[in-house]
Amino acid sequence: MPTEQTLLLAGLFVALAAAGWAFAYFGWQGNEDPPPPPVNADYLRGLNLVLNRQTDEALELFVRMAKVDDETLETHFALGHLFRRRGEIDRAIRVHQNLLARPNLNESQRHQALFALAKDYLSAGLFDRAEKLFSDLRGSPTLAESALESLVDIYEREHDWHKAIEAHRALEVLTGEKLSQVAHYYCELAEKARIGGDLDAARQYLKNSVRSETGAFRGKLIRAAIAQEDRDYAQAIRLYEQVLETDRRLMADVLPELVACYRDAGRERELETRIRAMLESDADIREPLAYAVIRNGLVSPPILMECVEEFVVTHDVLSRLVDAERYASLGENERAETMARVVDALRKIAQSGVRYRCTICGYGSQRLVWHCPSCKAWESLRPVQTLQLDRLVA
Ligand SMILES: [Zn+2]
Repeated sequence: MPTEQTLLLAGLFVALAAAGWAFAYFGWQGNEDPPPPPVNADYLRGLNLVLNRQTDEALELFVRMAKVDDETLETHFALGHLFRRRGEIDRAIRVHQNLLARPNLNESQRHQALFALAKDYLSAGLFDRAEKLFSDLRGSPTLAESALESLVDIYEREHDWHKAIEAHRALEVLTGEKLSQVAHYYCELAEKARIGGDLDAARQYLKNSVRSETGAFRGKLIRAAIAQEDRDYAQAIRLYEQVLETDRRLMADVLPELVACYRDAGRERELETRIRAMLESDADIREPLAYAVIRNGLVSPPILMECVEEFVVTHDVLSRLVDAERYASLGENERAETMARVVDALRKIAQSGVRYRCTICGYGSQRLVWHCPSCKAWESLRPVQTLQLDRLVA
């Protein structure tokens, strides 16, 4: 039972504290200093209960313990911490509230107890209460930085980007370090404004996002989408192409938009020429391009299907399923039908797998998210753009 294990671990802390006391007490032989006062009787009783696995009684005793001095204080914090780590949040809260009710705490101890209680609330999902306590600790000489970091964490979870920016700026002032994730907060605000149709506000937020390389890259994608909505296709095409030059792995996301921009601008022939030039200058682009075409079901301009055809007939696995010689001997219509069937099957395979994966924690997602919901890292998800084809011939 987790409770028993928790209190056994807590018992270890108590035992260590008691051992320290015993060493100091019995080790005092002929020194000038007077011996420490005898250890609290309740404290030893609590230890005894823990060792006898009378967990609830032990907790009650520790919580009710009248005397909280420097020795027992650390044990209370250790107990509270253990309860929280094991998910016994109610018990952690009781321990810390009990501490805060003591009149003899100094300022630093009081702040430590408030901080611990705020962490309990955070673990319990009581964000409002946690936010209030962390905010109260912003002026603490010892815990201001940790409190601000926790506030940033809360605001990120709540998607309250304005407050996240404010807490982040305060953290920068306090630590003297420039932090890059604030650019993401502005990008979040810009994206929200763009989706809500307020393109001017989106542009305004983006001006603040260029403080870091990260923000500049993501900001470029949002600016491209804004230009596309504004029907400023020349600008959108320029920005999308810059994104692809920086990171080809975003091909599957950017190519459909690029094709749409060229099409809506009446410049489809130009796109054909551009893609041919890209393929001639860099053969490695063929595979991500083919993947992007398959995944998104693109059919024009014709160069895209040519690219997929070549990908299929030269692929290690697919070439075993589609005989290149026989395929080449088919009539034009039969070839188109065969390829359409292959592409359709490949699209199903591409869409059934995870599309993006977090490089830190392995979290998988079907859509591009910039803030990993699992490990909370920014810009850690990367596209997975390989078709899982090995099992087709296994
Ligand atoms: Zn992650």
